[in-house]
Amino acid sequence: MVGIVVVSHSDALAQGVVTLAREISPPELMLEAAGGIGEEGILGTSAELIGAAIARAMSAEGVLVLMDLGSALMSAELAVELLEGAPGPVRLSAAPLVEGAIAAAVAAGGGATLDEVAAEADRALEMKSAQVGTDDVSATKMDAASLEPTADAEAELAVENEVGLHARPAARFVETVRRFDAEVLVAKAGSGARPVSARSLTNVVALGARRGDSLRVLARGRQAGEVLVALRELAADGFGDGLATHASASPMNSRAAPEPGAELRGVPACAGLADGPARVLAPAAAAAARAAGGPGAGSPAAGCPAAGSPDQELESLERGIEAARAAITADRERLRATAGDDEAEIFDAHLALLDDEALLAPARRAIAAGASAEDAAAQAAAQVSEIYRRLDNPLLAERAVDVLDVGRRIVAGINATASSAANAKPPSPAQENDNDSHSQILVADELTPSEAAGLDRERIAGIATARGSATAHAAIIARALGIPAVVGLGDAILAIPPGTPLLLDGSAGTVVVSPEPELLDAAARREHANRARRSAATAGAHEPAELASGERIEIFANVGSVADAQTAVEQGAEGVGLLRTEFLFLDRAELPDEDEQTATLREIADALDGRPLIVRTLDAGADKPLPGLPMPAEANPFLGVRGIRVGLRNPELLSTQLRAVLRVAAERPLKLMLPMVASPAEVVATRELLERARAETGVTAGLELGIMVEVPAAALTSTALAPHVDFFSIGTNDLTQYTMAAERGNARLEPLLAEPQPAVLQLIRTTVVAARTHGRWVGVCGELAGDPPAAVLLAGLGVTELSMAPRLIPEIKQALRGVGLQQARAAAEQALHATSAEQAREHGLALLS
Ligand code: PEP
Ligand code: MG
Repeated sequence: MVGIVVVSHSDALAQGVVTLAREISPPELMLEAAGGIGEEGILGTSAELIGAAIARAMSAEGVLVLMDLGSALMSAELAVELLEGAPGPVRLSAAPLVEGAIAAAVAAGGGATLDEVAAEADRALEMKSAQVGTDDVSATKMDAASLEPTADAEAELAVENEVGLHARPAARFVETVRRFDAEVLVAKAGSGARPVSARSLTNVVALGARRGDSLRVLARGRQAGEVLVALRELAADGFGDGLATHASASPMNSRAAPEPGAELRGVPACAGLADGPARVLAPAAAAAARAAGGPGAGSPAAGCPAAGSPDQELESLERGIEAARAAITADRERLRATAGDDEAEIFDAHLALLDDEALLAPARRAIAAGASAEDAAAQAAAQVSEIYRRLDNPLLAERAVDVLDVGRRIVAGINATASSAANAKPPSPAQENDNDSHSQILVADELTPSEAAGLDRERIAGIATARGSATAHAAIIARALGIPAVVGLGDAILAIPPGTPLLLDGSAGTVVVSPEPELLDAAARREHANRARRSAATAGAHEPAELASGERIEIFANVGSVADAQTAVEQGAEGVGLLRTEFLFLDRAELPDEDEQTATLREIADALDGRPLIVRTLDAGADKPLPGLPMPAEANPFLGVRGIRVGLRNPELLSTQLRAVLRVAAERPLKLMLPMVASPAEVVATRELLERARAETGVTAGLELGIMVEVPAAALTSTALAPHVDFFSIGTNDLTQYTMAAERGNARLEPLLAEPQPAVLQLIRTTVVAARTHGRWVGVCGELAGDPPAAVLLAGLGVTELSMAPRLIPEIKQALRGVGLQQARAAAEQALHATSAEQAREHGLALLS
């Protein structure tokens, strides 16, 4: 292994840098400090001390020397001249001392050659520069410089998904780019960084783009325009993530071994209760690296020289990559069948890594320098994963394990395709050392996605990991497989001796060590009841929802696409209560014309197979700007031109949409709904446009017109609005935002945004009373409708239609069936007068337990 010497004028500084580098390098790495001149407190450098440090760090692979300022270089040069008969080469590095030492330690620890260690140290500032915005991340600088002035097309894309460009959205970005005959470069807008090639997953992830950032995309070539349109569409869809919110807290527990009865707290990753003996796995990263022959496996480069010529090793690498591709594809298909498309997509990111030059180029270079294919793949994976791990973004950093996972697959592929299959694919956690058919709780530092996908549901009852978050891929897969899981439990969970009985609660995010029998009994009873509730909910998903006292509550779905509409029907929706049509418009340079809108609406209506469809007109503005319709900047966009205000200021835009709606309404059961209405005048103005659109299309069929109640003024004046509309649908997301004066995306305002706020419940009741007086019905289509305790309260307030994300439908129907109207009314009355959202929700919850 290459040794490293840190030279500084200050002994304390040299020692400090060595301590820092030791944190991330294997113990066997020779890391030596040579600071000061040997007399305490005196600054300077000494050739003698440096020479001694080089001798201590020396091995056949050589030593890299990093220095701070001025005379440090002279002293180091002198030290090298004075060295006699050293067994390996010595290289002086011009890299920055701290970053260079860390990068060199990671590379050397991974078994890199002296050339590679020196190169890594030289590149050490690139990541930081890219993050700060002063430089480029990769070796595509020349590309970028030459392409930028001659780009054929350019676009700026907003990053609007919750977690930014982490591995899966980045993989979709790269996949989209690769589908077109165009050269594409990307940079974080406003960062000043030069664009990097968008064909590399690592480059795209390393942009570190988060929600709220914008990407500057440059394209050149035959399909430059097409690729930008496709990327715009992808960005409009949150890069395939939508706009979901995720928890990511990761409290750490102490390193001490927990006492019997201790309760460890982590992050809930998959709901459900599980108990069983602990099955403790070696840390995932180390296990993956070990399987890959990477760091943690000793010294791969030194211990395992190439068996064949570089050409033969390159062939082995290619075979390993193809075998890995087949294995990943097989896992993806298996997961698609057992869990679903979204989860299977995790492996698309892994497949993209197999084509990523940022991973493959260092592997090929290592082979050219004499490494075996296995070592080259392992080293490259270890180095790239370290880049991810060091990113200043927890979500990206946790993708390091994905890179190690891919490295492990390649090595397994190389071994499996070699003539001696002695080192076939490492066993999955479910198989390793396991003759015990008992259900166990798998305890691990962190799981890789392939380990999670390989879990045997029959044997693994629960998962408890020290690291990771609810958004880690392994957690997503655990949820899809329905294995209760808690992540981010901290090191204490790893100190648990194998076989220790554990009780895991995936909803609360807790693990109890050696639980008392009474606790186990109580948990078993709870789990039994939960199971019964879930299976009853699924069984009754296609039955209508009736309260225990017999009143019907219509259960509809919120959708944004044809696929959503299909899911809605599968989940038992009686129709669509909210079609967010803005998804047809966002990030389109040219807005869709009447025919395109008609065709899409028809397709969605057809997916519903005769069920009613409530089409909301374009709800753009604020956080949903329309690139195809530039509007002046506003100081407070949430209080600016958004929702129906956009349509009324752009009558042709709204009229086109109204004509499309009318054309489909002539053949399918459609209703129309207006967003963000604050006054009757807005409804009257829209009706006029509607009548004109009728004349233009010749459609005479009836069309019910409703409004969203999401501005407090609409609720407070619902008596004045009711004569103008056929129904009200309450948008509790915005109604809460405007009532509490708390921007809905601002996580720092959490208590104000918690639901259901008593003030919002008061506005809902006001609306219901006004609607009843005029013979109108009231629905709720905000997120509140999909929360079982809140759904019960809404029924108690007189709401008769609830529209929600499709997957929530079975549980909501089930919750409503267990509650009578009188009970719901009484609970709602109390909730109206509660002093907090939490207290209000408790009143609904009490009816469900
Ligand atoms: C709402 O505001 O509650 C609503 C359903 O509309 P959106 O979330 O699309 O703003
Ligand atoms: Mg809204």
